[in-house]
Amino acid sequence: MAEKREFRAIKGMRDILPPDSALWNWFEESAREVFETYGFRDIRLPILEQTELFARSIGADTDVVGKEMYTFADRPYGVDDSSGRYLVEQRGVLPFDLLTLRPEATASVVRAYIEHGPHNWPGSAKLYYMGPMFRHERPQKGRYRQFYQIGAEVLGQSDAPGIDAEAIEMLLVFFKRVRLKNIKLQLNSIGCKDCRSKYVELLREELLKVKEQLGADSQRRIETNPLRVLDSKVPHEQPIIETLPRISDHLCAACREHFAALKVELKLRGVEYEENWRLVRGLDYYTRTTFEVTASGLGSQNAVCGGGRYDGLVELLGGPPTKGIGFAIGSDRAILSIQEAGDLPDLPGLAVFVAWMGPKAYVPAIQITRKLREAGLAVELPADEMKFKKSLGLADKLGAKYALILGEDEVASGTFTLKRLKDADQKKMNENDLLEYLESERRGSRA
Ligand code: AMP
Repeated sequence: MAEKREFRAIKGMRDILPPDSALWNWFEESAREVFETYGFRDIRLPILEQTELFARSIGADTDVVGKEMYTFADRPYGVDDSSGRYLVEQRGVLPFDLLTLRPEATASVVRAYIEHGPHNWPGSAKLYYMGPMFRHERPQKGRYRQFYQIGAEVLGQSDAPGIDAEAIEMLLVFFKRVRLKNIKLQLNSIGCKDCRSKYVELLREELLKVKEQLGADSQRRIETNPLRVLDSKVPHEQPIIETLPRISDHLCAACREHFAALKVELKLRGVEYEENWRLVRGLDYYTRTTFEVTASGLGSQNAVCGGGRYDGLVELLGGPPTKGIGFAIGSDRAILSIQEAGDLPDLPGLAVFVAWMGPKAYVPAIQITRKLREAGLAVELPADEMKFKKSLGLADKLGAKYALILGEDEVASGTFTLKRLKDADQKKMNENDLLEYLESERRGSRA
């Protein structure tokens, strides 16, 4: 006999069970509704992509690519790899593709945009997605190895600041709709290829002057990615970072103008923001606009959304010159914040529990259950006969609004007894009255 073993979800990955899953569905459905009013449409993407897609777009020196990707060989489990080993050892080539579980989805959206022909999109492509992402991080509250994002991207020929502002407005309308509290929008511009690279050189020079005072991570980043030093949370580095040159003083005229126009556009739309010159974002592909939204109740992992412009990314991945902007919402964190604030929506649950008793009641119970379900009500019909008290006890535990009682009396008279569980109010009705009553109830309360 096989040895007994217990299986558990692997570290950093979790199950989302009812009733939480209903809150998740409501959250995602709300995003769809809001995004579609802004003319965005759903794109469904593969969860696996070639490793190279992420390495190229996100950047080799980022934490995501350098340390966090779930990457493996593209071959079925159990295939003999002796010939593969030979190829690696003798010729230094991998006999299989390397695949990665997506750590984010912008790269996939851009890949799909190019693959299906940019000319096939009328105007700008306005796309949204939702689904799981994977990063091998150290799990903690609000940080998981499988987490969920809802993102939106605009790809096309225009980089008008109105596009950035509309995306941000849409994001905040969605956050308001799902009752996220204490939202703060932080905004920055990190310039374009030209002005940013000059700024990065200046930053590197200044950082070299204070190198000895910085920690090991920041010291390494002076060489690899000086902008990331600005991201540092190390306490003793903070006063040093405050003295460094700021990108806002080094933007080229076009980037300065773009940023100024974006701020005007945001004001026009009543969007409040704080400027944060240190907001550079962890991924390499960003240009100009970057932003982040934080919410309450989350401790140190309080960013619920990150986004920005990525005007060079389509070209970097082999497509024609194209502008792009987008954001990704961390659903796990946003939902956690909504739960912590406690202002939860009234979500539809079980409407009716059918308490049938006696063999004669079973057939009418099946029939009425079918009719109630056809009318759109959520109905539970126990497959085993239960004693009356037990039946009502279970109805209560399942959160049913009503128990529909079908005993010998009801069967004999062709009626139903409907009992409202919260106040035990009960009425005897015939089938027509019952259907009419419950349907109007459902329309009224969306039960
Ligand atoms: P990024 O793709 O890194 O810009 O992240 C965008 C948003 O995704 C963040 O603001 C978080 O809300 C969320 N997020 C990123 N990594 C994780 C993670 N490991 N666990 C949970 N949420 C995450």
